[in-house]
Amino acid sequence: MRNAVLVALFVLGGGTLANMYLSKSESLDQKPGFYWVSERLVQIPVVSFLPTRVLHREMPSISREDNASVLKSVYEVFNPSLRPFLALVPIVLDASADTAKAYPAIGYIGVSPDWDKTVLQSRHRAIYEQRGMKPGDPVFMQRFKTNLLIHEFLHILQVHQGIDSRSCYEAVARWYLDPRYGMPFANNKGDGNTAMSKSPPMLSANRMKYIVWYDLYNYRRLSDVPQDESWKNMQYWERYRFEKKGVEEFAYIGEEILSSGSASESYIKTGRWRDQDWKDKKARLLEVSPEVIALYRGVFNPELTQRKIQK
Ligand SMILES: [Zn+2]
Repeated sequence: MRNAVLVALFVLGGGTLANMYLSKSESLDQKPGFYWVSERLVQIPVVSFLPTRVLHREMPSISREDNASVLKSVYEVFNPSLRPFLALVPIVLDASADTAKAYPAIGYIGVSPDWDKTVLQSRHRAIYEQRGMKPGDPVFMQRFKTNLLIHEFLHILQVHQGIDSRSCYEAVARWYLDPRYGMPFANNKGDGNTAMSKSPPMLSANRMKYIVWYDLYNYRRLSDVPQDESWKNMQYWERYRFEKKGVEEFAYIGEEILSSGSASESYIKTGRWRDQDWKDKKARLLEVSPEVIALYRGVFNPELTQRKIQK
């Protein structure tokens, strides 16, 4: 039943990126009264933590052929020096994954058994069809696969590159509270951010902050950033005490930058990044403080960051 609800939730989410992450799920170490923000949670094992059958049973990989175009796009946004490593990270079908999840310490990514299936082939067919999908539609669209894999690779890379979650959290929290990088705002155009305005958009509206806020805090069912200054508290500190201390922040922000453009018409049609998609990624970079970006040193394709410096 929970699966059905989750599937329904993420099918619903086809429209907007933010909605894709609405689902929540339980975890092995769930605390009472506490909800994971995303079903795409990271298992940070602690190998002994995982049921041994998960590790020992045969775990079929996704088809590299069927996913060649997605994988190519995903690898392209990362530093080329990382590609041989990324290409070796197993991506396995994982019955416990509603969409996708990373096992960074072990170094693999688990994805839903529906990854390469059509609606007709899915055991959740009825739910998908109820949502208006046709039997022949793929359950996972190219765009969704791209965003998910970027996110999960970031989890793997954070561990692989030894990027400290605590300093990530602290840099993100400082960026979040820093008014020079704008207030969280849902639309691209914030107050006073008209064509007439000379200030950079990020000074009056910061969509990136909004998206990260939304992704990480929607479990409180807040539909908008509070109008007063209380958004600055936004349970960030509470979350820090109880949860992952920068792990999700790293993956969400990196994903927001790197997957930018995946919703563009051309990407959906061709499955390839266009120049405009890269421009969108660079625009997203400008919305995040250099301190946060520094955490991704060596992770992003240098094409993204170099041109930013020249600006
Ligand atoms: Zn995650």
